[in-house]
Amino acid sequence: MEAFQIIYIIGFMIATVIRSYYGQKFKRQNTERYEKENPVVFIGMALWGVSLVLPLITAFSEVLEFADYQINIVLRIIGTIIFSSSLWMLWRSHEDLATNFSPSLFIQKQHVLVTTGVYQRIRHPMYLSFYMWTIGQALIIDNWLAGPVGIIAFTMIYVFRVKREEQQLIDQFGEEYTQYMRKTERLVPRYLSTSYKDKKYF
Ligand code: SAH
Repeated sequence: MEAFQIIYIIGFMIATVIRSYYGQKFKRQNTERYEKENPVVFIGMALWGVSLVLPLITAFSEVLEFADYQINIVLRIIGTIIFSSSLWMLWRSHEDLATNFSPSLFIQKQHVLVTTGVYQRIRHPMYLSFYMWTIGQALIIDNWLAGPVGIIAFTMIYVFRVKREEQQLIDQFGEEYTQYMRKTERLVPRYLSTSYKDKKYF
């Protein structure tokens, strides 16, 4: 096993702890409304689930060796920084979203709109953390199957979920959410994204 695979495994364990800790706080009986997911989201989730465990397979067996490729060490170090930062963002977004978190499109009985902390400048810091994770993974795991597949999988989830999620929040919070939308961007903070202004997905 090489150093970068160990980094991935440690990250995987930390992310599992964060997600399980906040995930168990979500209670279906405290929810008030549910919006159906686009079916593509479920395909994306299944693919993403596979892409999360493939690096573990490359670490413990040689079956995926045929899909190995070379990544320059500088890129792998950049990948490690992005990957580690994703864990910080994953934790902060769960912490700031608190009881308003749900693993799907749920509105809680006591739902409040969060506009502070990592939600101050961007509306989807948790999804940003998932993108950072998948980009980091693609740079540190030198295998076509275990590396970049997560980016495709999470994009399927993101693109087919984000509009519905925002529409649901507009329906719930009305003007409060549309005002919040005017002050924020989806994934990249405004001061970094002026040239992307018209590319609504970012
Ligand atoms: N898209 C957000 C949150 C993901 S968790 C992010 O990437 O950080 C999904 C749940 O969070 C949904 O139930 C949605 O209604 C809720 N949610 C999203 N943004 C919110 C906000 N600013 N305040 C309160 N709840 C929010």
